[in-house]
Amino acid sequence: MDQNRIKRNKLLSERIIKGLESRNMEGYYAETKEEALAKALEWIPEGSSISWGGSMSVNEIGLKNTVCEGNYTVYNRDTAQGPEEKRKMELAAYDCDYFLTSANAITEDGVMVNIDGMANRVSAIAAGPRNVLMIIGMNKVVKDVDNAMSRARNEAAPINAQRFGLDTPCAKTGSCFDCKSPDTICCQILITRFSKKPKRIKVILVNEELGF
Ligand code: SF4
Repeated sequence: MDQNRIKRNKLLSERIIKGLESRNMEGYYAETKEEALAKALEWIPEGSSISWGGSMSVNEIGLKNTVCEGNYTVYNRDTAQGPEEKRKMELAAYDCDYFLTSANAITEDGVMVNIDGMANRVSAIAAGPRNVLMIIGMNKVVKDVDNAMSRARNEAAPINAQRFGLDTPCAKTGSCFDCKSPDTICCQILITRFSKKPKRIKVILVNEELGF
């Protein structure tokens, strides 16, 4: 990465972390995926119960694989044998110590926007898990909430809709048409602007392109 961009992203991350702290959340800036993984493992004590919402960023820094192989209790709904076990794991996720996820966008002053189809991810961010750990690449930083909403619906959603082969206007055109398609992944939209419980939400910003 260009040295000037490295410098700019570091300065911007300081502003975002101040914004997060002013909102009762905690932030850390990692230059690399490896540093992000090390910080995540420093924050999550061994023996913790862990679950996650769909997130490429969590995968891309190697966090999901590491906790699956480590000394943690993992609730992974992808391994469920049938719908009943899947539901049990989804409910168990609300009582876990650490819920791992990302955000569709984060503003320069520390507000996060997430869209969701099944809403397991946004509901767990809002309440339930004792801690929420978000891994967010600097490619997801935007100026304000309007831009965060636009990024979520015109960039993240179309790519995710294509990824899952969904029948939505954004999958066909690459842009949001505010659909009411049965396949829509915009059933619930969460704006996270303050944490009632101090430091429940922790964010690791990563100076790499992660997720969509
Ligand atoms: S509302 Fe519909 S068209 Fe818009 S981003 Fe969501 S799924 Fe795509």
